[in-house]
Amino acid sequence: MSQLSYVSHTGGTAWDTYISQVDRVIPYLGHLARWSETLKRPKRALIVDVPIELDNGEVAHFEGYRVQHNLSRGPGKGGVRYHPDVTLEEVMALSAWMTVKCAAVNLPYGGAKGGIRVDPKKLSLKELERMTRRYTSEIGIIIGPQRDIPAPDVNTNGQIMAWMMDTYSMNTGTTATGVVTGKPLHLGGSLGRVKATGRGVFVTGREAARRLGLSLEGVRIAVQGMGNVGGAAAELFVQAGAKLVAVQDHTGTLVNPNGFDIADTMTVLHRDGGIGNYTGAERIDNEAFWDVDCDILIPAALESQITAARANRIKAKLVLEGANGPTLPDADDVLHDRGVLVVPDVICNAGGVTVSYFEWVQDFSSFFWSEDEINLRLDKIMVDALKKIWDTADRHKISLRTATFAVACERILTAREERGLYP
Ligand code: GLU
Repeated sequence: MSQLSYVSHTGGTAWDTYISQVDRVIPYLGHLARWSETLKRPKRALIVDVPIELDNGEVAHFEGYRVQHNLSRGPGKGGVRYHPDVTLEEVMALSAWMTVKCAAVNLPYGGAKGGIRVDPKKLSLKELERMTRRYTSEIGIIIGPQRDIPAPDVNTNGQIMAWMMDTYSMNTGTTATGVVTGKPLHLGGSLGRVKATGRGVFVTGREAARRLGLSLEGVRIAVQGMGNVGGAAAELFVQAGAKLVAVQDHTGTLVNPNGFDIADTMTVLHRDGGIGNYTGAERIDNEAFWDVDCDILIPAALESQITAARANRIKAKLVLEGANGPTLPDADDVLHDRGVLVVPDVICNAGGVTVSYFEWVQDFSSFFWSEDEINLRLDKIMVDALKKIWDTADRHKISLRTATFAVACERILTAREERGLYP
């Protein structure tokens, strides 16, 4: 029933991970299980050709996607990723996780995601702008403030959102601030959005640590990926008394059992775009990152990082999934059996889309909130959502991941059932 003809069935892809997560929740869906096939089929997937003229006069073609996984609870919502490994299947999985994530924190959105298979580091700024504008025009037939609202993801940022907003606005003859979120402040962006995902990771981590009886004072954290998510989360943990003992990014892996100097780390990061030249720590082999002695591990890079073999070596008591889909299903079982608590992506990193929602609401009302108000509201939404998930996990004696899926899928499938089948 769930075999999609355009999906490879070799196993191990992000989509396979997602499908196995859905299969695990079906026994807890009661009568709604009747609708569960909905979760295994994206509503709509668009593949677009993105041709651009390079600065040297040649023409290059890139393949782009926008997938709307489910729109039962509201317009599509989810980021746009620029990465050489982007595939349709990956974007499908990421869009499905957005559906679950938005429902887990009860935002009135469905799930969507976009991407272009490209290495943006090889493009000039002008080429990046041309590619973004052409991609936006191509997906313009399915996005819109009430239809599907893109946002930043891996290798995209406020500048790219500004070009997307402008392109959509030019094509529709409007000033459509609500068509994307994660915009610069002058264009209807929201205070607190840039660091919101990392803040959400911190808030869920703080709550989970409290339940484990783990004080944040002196707690040792290891972070994979020091981008928007990992960097902001690391800063907040260190402010709360934690010690950053290991960092891995595309420039290498560094450790210091006495703790990194966070201010120096951030300076190097902003200057070089990577931590490789930070001198206050020792460089180790990349694979040794998974053996590092730490209390909290924060994978905040890409999918499929925690394999079963790595899960067996992890020393942390708590894993906070800042990235989308970092843990493979068999690794999830290993961590569970070893008593390592995993706060899953679909709640852990939901802070970003939550503040995206605040941004969208502010754009519609043209009334903007203070940063304190944003951060307070974000904290409350994350704490309340996590509490409901934790209660569900305790009641059914299931993992936090399956509990998050249970809470979210009940909302998604209830909406599905109430709307009924058309025609
Ligand atoms: N790309 C982020 C995520 O994976 C944010 C999406 C959004 O704000 O719409 O959650």
